[in-house]
Amino acid sequence: MSDTSTPRTPRARQRRGKGQWALGYREPLNPNERSKKDDHPLNVRARIEGTYAHGGFASIDPGDLRGRFRWYGLYTQRKPGIDGGRTAALDPEELDDEYFMLRVRIDGGALTTEQLALIGEISQTYARDTADITDRQNVQYHWIRVEDMPTIWAKLEGAGLTTMTACGDSPRVILGSPLAGIADDEIIDATPAIDEIKRRYLGKPEYANLPRKFKTAISGLPDVAHEIHDVAFVGVHHPEHGPGFDLWVGGGLSTNPMLAQRLGAWVPLAEVPEVWEGVISVFRDYGYRRLRSRARLKFLVKDWGARKFREVLETEYLGRRLLDGPAPQAPGRHRDHVGVHRQKDGTFSVGTAPIAGRVSGSTLIAVAKAAERAGSARVRLTPLQKLVVLDVPETEVPGLQAELAELGLPSEPSPWRRGVMACTGIEFCKLAIVETKARARELVTELERRLADIESELDTGDSPVTVHLNGCPNSCARIQTADIGLKGQIVTDDEGNQVEGFQVHLGGGLGLDAGFGRKLRGHKVTGGELVGYVERVVRNYHAGREPGERFAQ
Ligand code: SF4
Repeated sequence: MSDTSTPRTPRARQRRGKGQWALGYREPLNPNERSKKDDHPLNVRARIEGTYAHGGFASIDPGDLRGRFRWYGLYTQRKPGIDGGRTAALDPEELDDEYFMLRVRIDGGALTTEQLALIGEISQTYARDTADITDRQNVQYHWIRVEDMPTIWAKLEGAGLTTMTACGDSPRVILGSPLAGIADDEIIDATPAIDEIKRRYLGKPEYANLPRKFKTAISGLPDVAHEIHDVAFVGVHHPEHGPGFDLWVGGGLSTNPMLAQRLGAWVPLAEVPEVWEGVISVFRDYGYRRLRSRARLKFLVKDWGARKFREVLETEYLGRRLLDGPAPQAPGRHRDHVGVHRQKDGTFSVGTAPIAGRVSGSTLIAVAKAAERAGSARVRLTPLQKLVVLDVPETEVPGLQAELAELGLPSEPSPWRRGVMACTGIEFCKLAIVETKARARELVTELERRLADIESELDTGDSPVTVHLNGCPNSCARIQTADIGLKGQIVTDDEGNQVEGFQVHLGGGLGLDAGFGRKLRGHKVTGGELVGYVERVVRNYHAGREPGERFAQ
């Protein structure tokens, strides 16, 4: 139900302000806010288990189906066969399939091999063997039936996993370093803070009705894209107090991308949960709830600035001053952890590169078994859609590498396998305009063949040329932070036909090169021209670059 009965005069709009709760605007100003007020989204689980799982898809209330289900990681998936040109023209129910996408949140990307095998088994039994590693360290299933949700939750939760607030206007999965606690060069292990935030706040109603989604990254290494999170804690050495975290707020992509701002505050490990609670509370209370397009924290931070945000956080929420702290050292390029790396304890991590995160339940089970045979009991998923096996004794590394390569998971991949990411795209996503995963596979295969002559010169360690594909203007695959970012849209080909294609952004990056790629006006390619276009761009870059120069420079 919307508030269309409210008069929409300029004066009335002024009175309603931006919908900030802290300023007294508690009446819902759009249908999403109304839905959350009418019934807290966390309540939907009882209805799924008590009613919908028995009555099937047809029994689901539309408000739950297209709204509250998300708080448990469930979205309807796209009905097959609807082309991207019709996405915007159709009503949501015309796009809905009777199956769901289900996101399992995996905070810090950390899994035991037992959990990995269980995720694979659930995929085989309930998700037609689908499993994508997302760039938020989640696993995403497809073809899920509402009838199976009680059993799926029982299995996941029995193994310590959850889908709670994996989507929705809520605190999403917390990104953490895939090498937390084991990397030689990490400043601090953030794992205790991530665990404590989950223990204290996950699933609490007071933190699960936010203006919009709330993304967190906490890491002692520059490997979680902290610049584009609503809140990020970045490892830093304080000259007097030692290792801790630098606090950043207000990053985000999609339309109006913004880099997060430093608050200049240093936070010790033990205080991270409390400060996180303060930041999410500022967002809950002061965030803009009138327009969904301006509801992310980044808009509040832009309007307030870092100084005012810190002042409100300290005075109204923490009741104390935070310590000033130094900026983290400019990190190198965002690390993907692919390849073999020595851990602190003398064992090794083996990082592999599926193409754009696409694996399968069967593959995950096989990885779990191979890892256990090699003496490992732990794996990690990465924010670049990669998978890393931890704690492998040196003598077992070559055998594990060979087994993983057999499974389509090379640990010495081409730079294209390493550098390509893709969102879900038109195969399953209702918002999509173009296909992405299959295109990513074709792109990798073709670039490996066509650019073999310059591959060794381009494979610059942890800095492959990155190519990210999005299926629509949202930025699930972070196109603005790629060397070559491709935003799916309908374009006109040489014959005047409307076909799937991409708007090109060039020169984005994270870490040392943090900045958004330039959108080249009128620079669009059709899906059919994509491989040739990327090949030309890379060859031009290769021909003109200075020694040691990276793409974004
Ligand atoms: Fe769907 Fe668009 Fe996100 Fe891709 S970028 S997963 S098409 S919403």
